[in-house]
Amino acid sequence: MKEKLDAILKDGCDKIATAKTVAELQDVKASLIGKQGAVTEILKEVPKMEASLRAETGRAANQLKQQLTAMLDARVEEIQLKASEISPDFDYTVPGIFPQLFNSNGFGGLHPITQMCYDLNDTFRSMGFEIFQESDISSELYAFDNLNFPAEHPARESMDTYWLEGHDSGSGGKRLCLRPHLTGASVRFMQKNKPPYRFVYPGRVYRNEETDARHERAFFQYEVLIVDREFPFSAGMILIKSILSKVFGRDVPVRMRVGFFPFVEPGFEIDMGCLVCEGKGCSVCKHVGWIEIMPGGSPHPNVLRASGLDPAEYTGFYVNIGLDRLVMMRSGIDDVRLFHSGDLRFLEQFA
Ligand SMILES: [Zn+2]
Repeated sequence: MKEKLDAILKDGCDKIATAKTVAELQDVKASLIGKQGAVTEILKEVPKMEASLRAETGRAANQLKQQLTAMLDARVEEIQLKASEISPDFDYTVPGIFPQLFNSNGFGGLHPITQMCYDLNDTFRSMGFEIFQESDISSELYAFDNLNFPAEHPARESMDTYWLEGHDSGSGGKRLCLRPHLTGASVRFMQKNKPPYRFVYPGRVYRNEETDARHERAFFQYEVLIVDREFPFSAGMILIKSILSKVFGRDVPVRMRVGFFPFVEPGFEIDMGCLVCEGKGCSVCKHVGWIEIMPGGSPHPNVLRASGLDPAEYTGFYVNIGLDRLVMMRSGIDDVRLFHSGDLRFLEQFA
């Protein structure tokens, strides 16, 4: 029996050493220690052997099996290592294939709204803000309930967003919709994190409405939220003014007016001076010299409560920038529908 085991070992060693691929080694493994492998066949015979031979043969066969397994594993590793080596013939100086970003007209680039979003991200990141993102699907709970919208508020009507699952039967978190604004997800952020925090939240929002030069069914918002034990509005105004100046590369006049939104108290509207007419009045600013650019305010106590925060302890500063409108101002675009038109003649101008 010893000769037989020795012969298997010798044959196994040869086969393992000469196998060139992992697949070949698998065949070798099967022939040695697989279900019908040479060693396995011997192990099957052990119980039928004479008592005097049984123990010794069993031990020897098991040892051989372990030895072969170790050799097979080592050889697999060796082959895999060799496969990942770079051939000495590889020529590092041959130029690579550059990704095709531009067509024959030289076109290819980021959408102007994406460019604006990235510009803002860079600016806010440099000021220590975190960037937060979430799903486009929200619910009545996050889009309205948590944001202090009264039950009979007209914004909850079907015209204001696109209702999804649970529209007829559900309520709160079970009544799903495409988010009509970003603010609801800020509550989700606040529920999960402990203040103080400052974060921005860019994303697409949806409205079920007629489109015209100033309105679209889907557009982009950029929400900014700071929550702390105290945060003066004057600091918020300086923040907004410096952000706008950075985006437009020049000093931008900014003013604040009282405004009402259910989720803020006090609430305001921030206007920027019309850069097209320099405040003199033109069709873009409807001849008033100012353009409504973002609503804002301090999060309403009910919104803070919905976020698990004590309004006696925390306050905050919130603005929601209309990205589309900001790009329209920066690039002198007079129709918001161009953004989603897919018209290359329009998009190529921003490449
Ligand atoms: Zn103007």
